[in-house]
Amino acid sequence: MQRALDTLRHVFGYDAFRGVQGEIVGHVAEGGDALVLMPTGGGKSLCYQLPALLRQGTAIVVSPLIALMQDQVEALRQLGVKAAFLNSSLDAGAALAVERAFADGELDLLYVAPERLLTPRFLSLLERARIALFAIDEAHCVSQWGHDFRPEYRQLTLLHERWPDVPRIALTATADAPTRREIVERLALEDARQFVSSFDRPNIRYTVVAKQDSRRQLVDFLRERTRDSGIVYCLSRKKVEQTAEFLVAQGISALPYHAGLDAEKRAAHQRRFLREDGIVMCATIAFGMGIDKPDVRYVAHLDLPKSLEGYYQETGRAGRDGDPADAWMAYGLGDAVLLQRMIEESESGEERKRLERRKLDALIGYCESTACRRQSLLAYFGEAHAGACGNCDNCIAPPRSYDGTVAAQKALSCVYRTGQRFGAAHVIDVLRGAQTQKVFQFGHENVSTYGIGTELDAKQWRSVFRQLVAGGWLAVDVEGHGALRLTSASAGLLKGETSLTLRAETEKAPKRRESRNA
Ligand code: ADP
Ligand code: ZN
Repeated sequence: MQRALDTLRHVFGYDAFRGVQGEIVGHVAEGGDALVLMPTGGGKSLCYQLPALLRQGTAIVVSPLIALMQDQVEALRQLGVKAAFLNSSLDAGAALAVERAFADGELDLLYVAPERLLTPRFLSLLERARIALFAIDEAHCVSQWGHDFRPEYRQLTLLHERWPDVPRIALTATADAPTRREIVERLALEDARQFVSSFDRPNIRYTVVAKQDSRRQLVDFLRERTRDSGIVYCLSRKKVEQTAEFLVAQGISALPYHAGLDAEKRAAHQRRFLREDGIVMCATIAFGMGIDKPDVRYVAHLDLPKSLEGYYQETGRAGRDGDPADAWMAYGLGDAVLLQRMIEESESGEERKRLERRKLDALIGYCESTACRRQSLLAYFGEAHAGACGNCDNCIAPPRSYDGTVAAQKALSCVYRTGQRFGAAHVIDVLRGAQTQKVFQFGHENVSTYGIGTELDAKQWRSVFRQLVAGGWLAVDVEGHGALRLTSASAGLLKGETSLTLRAETEKAPKRRESRNA
């Protein structure tokens, strides 16, 4: 182990291992298989880079991200490590030179894209070389339930079959239990030792705000952070464009980024984001994976992410330098309805839809929660957090709650009286006795629930409906354009057999911490 520590200091220039790094390095250097679950920024690379130097031969690193390969190889070379990569960005001559160096045993590490690794040409190269270890980075790509599924990852078991004595280390920052199980199974890592780090990112402050005028709310949030760089995630390309335009019109340095922009523009925007301060990158989730910018100060979601894993990954791009950072999200009923519709209308099979519905429920539960956000988030990954965190909106300004039984009854009966054919906006109009064209068109000024809900304003009612949907008291009819209908649970509430505590809406924008940019 002394050798490991010496190499850590002399080659990498670090004083000590971080967390479980040392254990992992020792285990792999001695020939053991490992599955490493560590959050982004935790220091995964070192877990295979160091054993690569301690063992004879070349370490083969499978990575799906071309940009990341180049960065890592560049960084390793600067440390004097003999590293190279093979991927589609190399021309034939350059690729040949790398293959030669590899065959001649001149490389400590060779990064290779999975599709390249699986070619007969590369496999025969491997046969002739001395291999120190196989590292499988972004191992969750083997999971078809994840958002980064790479079919070639499924074939990586052949490494184990052909080279049973070469240690394998699989790494990922995606830690939920089903994905973990799938990685173990699909990569035949049953006998590998699992190293699970805490997924807590204590420097990230989590905040969820109820959507009112979400762009305005975003601008307010950004105005307190004008010198910081951050990412604003939107669901669609169109919304990315619109948001960037809107922000620019407000005098904010925003840039759009999505897969529909031409490559040159994308690269230019990414470059500016990396190099300049105070750039707001409005992006779809196409942006972020493999972006190495440690001082991203905030990640804002203008639309709901697809799942809590997605949310964790996306917000994890903030504050990798360990300094305070914000994860901010605006959430409204419309988002939940839209995602629900996307699930129902997708081509996926019933099993997958069920899984996606469950994930969406967990996400909505997180948004509606009155408990510590960090605790909820970590609990989703099977990790307990001792006590409330003190660094999320619910901890900083505990939400008030109230007995919402009567409000809920009014809401449910109004949904019922108007025929379970309308979305929340119209039902709220009826409750509040609004004189809209739609009210008169359907004769809803004559239903018994017309005007019985003037004690709450529209915003408060929206909050009530959101919580009713989140709690399963109301269902959203996806085919009926977001129409609300009663559920089997509604009856008990309507009959007064159940009471309901609701969260009161508070105006919350986390103030920038005084210590920074004061
Ligand atoms: P991950 O791949 O898990 O996202 P990286 O391997 O990119 O994380 O490491 C994140 C950062 O932490 C890098 O800047 C890296 O140089 C730094 N780092 C890793 N290990 C150590 C260590 N033992 N001591 C100090 N810094 C470290
Ligand atoms: Zn908290």
